[in-house]
Formats: sequence, C-alpha cells, structure tokens
Amino acid sequence: MNVYDSARMADVLAPSGYRLAAAAAEADLVILNTCHIREKAAEKVYSELGRLRPLQARARAAGRSLMIGVGGCVAQAEGGEMMRRAPFVDLVFGPQAYHRLADMVARAEGGERVQETEFPAESKFDALPAPRGRGPASAFLTVQEGCDKFCTFCVVPYTRGAEQSRPAAEVIAEARALAARGAVEITLLGQNVNAYHGAAPAGGGGEEWSLARLIRALAGIAGVERIRYTTSHPLDMDADLIAAHGDVPALMPQLHLPVQSGSDRVLAAMNRRYGADDYRAVVARLRAARPDIALSSDFIVGFPGETEADFESTLALVREVGFAQAFSFKYSARPGTPAAEAPDQVPEPVKAARLAVLQAELAAQARAFNRAAVGRVLDVLVDGRGRHPAQAAGRTPYLQPVHVACTDESQARGLRGRVVPARISAVHPNSLAGTLAGEGDGAADGPFARPVRA
Ligand code: SAH
Ligand code: SF4
Repeated sequence: MNVYDSARMADVLAPSGYRLAAAAAEADLVILNTCHIREKAAEKVYSELGRLRPLQARARAAGRSLMIGVGGCVAQAEGGEMMRRAPFVDLVFGPQAYHRLADMVARAEGGERVQETEFPAESKFDALPAPRGRGPASAFLTVQEGCDKFCTFCVVPYTRGAEQSRPAAEVIAEARALAARGAVEITLLGQNVNAYHGAAPAGGGGEEWSLARLIRALAGIAGVERIRYTTSHPLDMDADLIAAHGDVPALMPQLHLPVQSGSDRVLAAMNRRYGADDYRAVVARLRAARPDIALSSDFIVGFPGETEADFESTLALVREVGFAQAFSFKYSARPGTPAAEAPDQVPEPVKAARLAVLQAELAAQARAFNRAAVGRVLDVLVDGRGRHPAQAAGRTPYLQPVHVACTDESQARGLRGRVVPARISAVHPNSLAGTLAGEGDGAADGPFARPVRA
C-alpha cells in the first residue's frame, strides 16, 4: 500500500512541477513514506533521516534547498515527537492527508514547518488527481483502508484509522483508467481487503458490494487479464469470494491469507477471532474451489505468553497446510497496543530461535513449491527488465518471479506488458528461470500440483 500511496503522492505533486528524481542528492524534496508495523521498520526512518541530513546541509551550502518530508504511519503515530526530534524535517503528514501535499509543500517552501496528522473529514480519494501517461503492467489499486479489528499486537487501527471502503463505481473507474494506461494485472489493496463493502454503483443491485461482487465486475474490463487482492483476513473469506476463486478465470490462483499462529490460545490472546481449525477449514474450501491455489501467510513468533507447545502448534499447521511463500516475524511490542503491556513477554533469544526454526520450514516449503514448477509451462506477465538486457522479468499466476531468456534485448522489450507462456528451466534463490514456450503450450500443462511437504 505504501508503494501505491507513494505513486499517488507523485501524482499530487506533478501539477506543482515536481517529478521523480533519480537520487536523493539530486532532489529538491525528499519524502520518506514510512511504516510503523514493527519497531525495526519505524527505526529505519530515523536512520534514513540521519543519512538525509548531510545531503540537506550540502545542498544548502551550494545555495539550493532540499526539503525533507515524512509521510505514512510513523509520521501519523509520532508526528509531534518527530517535529521535535528532527528539526531539519520540513513537513510531517499522515497516510490519510497526502491529498493535501501540494498545499503542504507550498507552505514548507515558504519557510513554515508543516505537520498534518489529524484524520481529515474528507476522503483523500475524492481529491487525488488522475495519473497520466503510461503506467505499469501490474498496477495496485487501493479499495479499502484502515481496520476495525484491533488485533492486540497491531498498530494499523491507530495509524490508518477506521475501516473505510471506496465506492464500487470509483474503484471501477480507476481500474478502467489503469487498464487504459497499460495495466494487465490489478492488485486490489486494503489492510483488510476482503472486508470490503463499498457503496454499489447506481443500478448495481443492493446497497453495498462485497469484494467478490467487485472482482466479478472488474474481471469484465477489457485488457484486465489478472486480478489479485491483498491482504485478507481469514474471518472475511465469505462463500462468494471463495466461489470466485473457482469461477473467475482472471482471479489468480494465489492468496495471501495471514494466520499469525497455529495455537488457539495465542490466536485468542491476539484477538484474531478464529481458531486454527477455522483456518484449516477456510483453506480446505479454497482448495475445493481452486485446487492449485498457492497460499502464502504471515506468522508472528514470540507473542506474549507463547509457549513451546503453542509454537509446536504453529509448526504443525504449517506442515499440514503447505505454503508456497510466507512472511514471518518476531513479535514486536508496539506502543499503545494491548499486547505491549502484557506481563509475559517472550525473551528475544527464544523468539529468535523459534523464528529460525519456522523460517527453515517455510523456506523448504517455498523451495519445494518452486521446484515443482521446473519443466512446466506457466504464463508469465512480463512487467519489467531482467538482470541482463536479453531477459524479461515477470510473474507466474502463482506470483513466482521469473526471468525469461530472450534472443536479444529487443525481443525482451517487446514482451513487456504481455502475458507469455514460459517453460520453467531452473530455480534460483529469488526467482525462477525460463525460456519462451510456443503459444498454447501453457494450456497443455494444466494446473499445478501442490507440494504439501518439503
Ligand atoms: N491485516 C492483515 C495484516 C496486516 S499487518 C491481517 O490481519 O492479517 C502485516 C503483518 O505484519 C501481519 O500479518 C503480522 O504478521 C505482522 N505484524 C503486525 N504487527 C506486528 C507486531 N507487532 N509484531 C510482529 N509482527 C507484526
Ligand atoms: Fe492489524 Fe490485520 Fe488485525 Fe487489522 S486485522 S488489527 S490490520 S493484524
């Protein structure tokens, strides 16, 4: 979502004459778009500011200005403190206020130090300008923001604010505009994207649309061949959304569905409002609808009170479900969240040891999943250049990154923005390698088998 927000910030500033600079040292304005989800992410902001400060001093010594802005969730959570701690920062603004960026920058250019971290009454989406020019083949589109779930470890409800869905007509219009700018794939974004319940378009039936209803409408837009959504909460995987995985061909067979833990006790303490078996049941229904669906997840180890037995339950769930990919984190106590106050915090070395065990298992599963692709023909949406000029980079339906070997640079360039069949030849640590396959080869290979165990 921060990638999407950053692109929209650039759109907002374009009419003021700002365009993207190649490097911070060349810029007149540097904006850090920040994340507060874990302590490590938040700390990076201050180390990055430390790197920018001498650049600003050097620019000033050379007679030009380099303004520094901090946006996003760290700005939202720590705005006042940041203004005090970093007097060289010119503007600080929260994730719901960046539609006012042109005005803030103009004020900062006039010498004012600007802080906008109140939640504005108006929706930023009503005020954002339409992007211009050619866009990416794989585009993001925020449909829902904020969260009302209040998991006890999480800052999102405090930094992004209450859950809000954009009206369906607005989303459809933005999706059409993205397609017109060259988007082949659209990833719908939200902190809780499957809790989406946006106002129905005029004559759209009912008062609100669910995410499934929205996906079915977006699948009808010419040029949109792939749809994804992230991040989902297991509680909000309703029957229609699960069914859509089976009957909307554009909906890709890949889903990020964070479980966090496999222990019912820990899940209850996290206020996740589901048990490990509820998660298993959702997975079973998804696989019944779309047998080759590739699942990914988020895990937190060392949540307050997590015992060795709780952690074993997480490992058991991982072994049983089988994930194509995953993100796992040590629990990070976040100021203002209930879990941060819990008395039974888990010692750092225990968290580190559990994380290493979990990550070894998850990495083995991911390798097995990727190895199973070797020899198969998979459709690749080419959305960038590879490491070498004669390579095209893209993603499979299962979201695996692939480098496709081409005869030369011009062939590689010609593939950009297209979905092409590629025969997968090898697995590298961070991507697959493949060669172009004949048109139609892909269909012959059918769906991908699921490696359950590494
Ligand atoms: N809305 C999504 C997750 C959003 S936050 C959901 O409910 O699943 C993205 C991920 O960051 C979470 O899934 C969680 O694994 C991780 N995370 C959030 N807060 C954290 C914390 N305090 N410590 C460690 N990891 C955290
Ligand atoms: Fe955070 Fe996700 Fe829980 Fe909302 S549902 S509080 S975003 S972890």
